[in-house]
Amino acid sequence: MAQERSTQQWRDMDAAHHLHPFTDTDSLNRHGARVITHGEGIYLWDSDGNKITDAMAGLWCVNLGYGRKDLALVAQQQMETLAYYNTFFKTTHPAVTELSALLSEIAPPGFSRMFYTNSGSEAVDTMIRMVRRYWDVQGQPQKKTLIGRWNGYHGSTIGGASLGGMGYMHEQGDLPIPGIAHIEQPWWYGLGGDSSREAFGLHAAGWLEQKILEIGADKVAAFVGEPIQGAGGVIIPPASYWPEIERICRKYDVLLVADEVICGFGRTGEWFGHQHFGFHPDLFTTAKGLSSGYQPIGAVFVGDRVAEGLARGGDFNHGFTYSGHPVAAAVARATVRALRDDGIVDRVKNDVGPYMQERWRETFEGFDHVDDVRGVGLIQGFTLVRNRDTRELFPDFGDAGTLCRDIFFGNNLIMRACGDHMVASPPLVVTRKEIDQMLGVAQRCVEEFEREIVRRGMV
Ligand SMILES: *Cc1c(COP(=O)(O)O)cnc(C)c1O
Repeated sequence: MAQERSTQQWRDMDAAHHLHPFTDTDSLNRHGARVITHGEGIYLWDSDGNKITDAMAGLWCVNLGYGRKDLALVAQQQMETLAYYNTFFKTTHPAVTELSALLSEIAPPGFSRMFYTNSGSEAVDTMIRMVRRYWDVQGQPQKKTLIGRWNGYHGSTIGGASLGGMGYMHEQGDLPIPGIAHIEQPWWYGLGGDSSREAFGLHAAGWLEQKILEIGADKVAAFVGEPIQGAGGVIIPPASYWPEIERICRKYDVLLVADEVICGFGRTGEWFGHQHFGFHPDLFTTAKGLSSGYQPIGAVFVGDRVAEGLARGGDFNHGFTYSGHPVAAAVARATVRALRDDGIVDRVKNDVGPYMQERWRETFEGFDHVDDVRGVGLIQGFTLVRNRDTRELFPDFGDAGTLCRDIFFGNNLIMRACGDHMVASPPLVVTRKEIDQMLGVAQRCVEEFEREIVRRGMV
């Protein structure tokens, strides 16, 4: 099919009229954006005809891969039947009820109710308001502070960005908002010193207890964390961490919230990341994989304790015009059914996930400037380091990552750099053969990276 316009025309229009998220506009426009035109399975094509392997599933979301006609058909049928109706004023519709019932089936026991949003950020903001409202209704209006973690990511709205621990986000827009505190992340490689992983996990959880005592348990509403920090660079906590966090939350009657926006819907080989780590949140937020990126939708899974507590308070004055949007709900339902009925979550746990982890280690463990090669299910990372023996990082965290990422990109393989952590989260439908192909290219890219840092005098 002939393209409507040339790459250059699209670039010029984009530069003139489109402000990109998380982007230095002038720098982008000097080079021009890459124009992605279509996708199929784990592959994308750009407007110059290049075939690109997407080892990130878009932004950690296209878990079923691109080009699914069944999801397109579901969207079309729902648009024809009922394109939109709200759920504010004593009405509902079949699409959102069916989705809710299905989600309660795949959720762990105790999660029978869902609240819908259009994104992960909105799910996080919804959760913040819910948690604070919950304690109001409980007669503890002073119990309002939420504790997040440095280098955590919870979205880009005012609440989500505040709760997240990204300093470069706090710097802009006067964040965090009041009533948010942060503790250090459970990053053993960078912060663990000489301790064993498991000892460090307990130590890192102890930072939560310290913070609760510092603020006063009667003022702390909730602790919020990603089971595995995604945008922070695939930081996988030691196995000892989450159970200890749960114990501390219970001890001080602090609600425990998992942000499952990346880990949810099969990424770790379980339906939800907290199941992989064996802990029990009171609420959890989801988005991304919920619709495999085919529609914008997020959901807060509200545990019975909080749902029943909120219900005692009468109206919960919160919601979005598009909460439970029929088309998004129908597509999400079809997505979750595919994940379940086609055995995709199970395949991540027992087949393609373990295969990826084995091949990932084989591919990257031998390099001089790659360390902490890690992963769970189909989320994995490694860190670019100056010196493996001393665990010395590069001085400007992020320069090496950007260089490496650009080499991958130039070889038509999309992996992401989070600082100097290189991460991947391919579609969950990826095959063993595709993994081999992807890692073959990645290996050559890291070889090129190691030559390049020598050439540039970075080591
Ligand atoms: C992506 C992400 C968000 C934000 O979701 P958006 O849909 O971009 O608003 C929140 N939490 C986590 C853990 C995420 O990875």
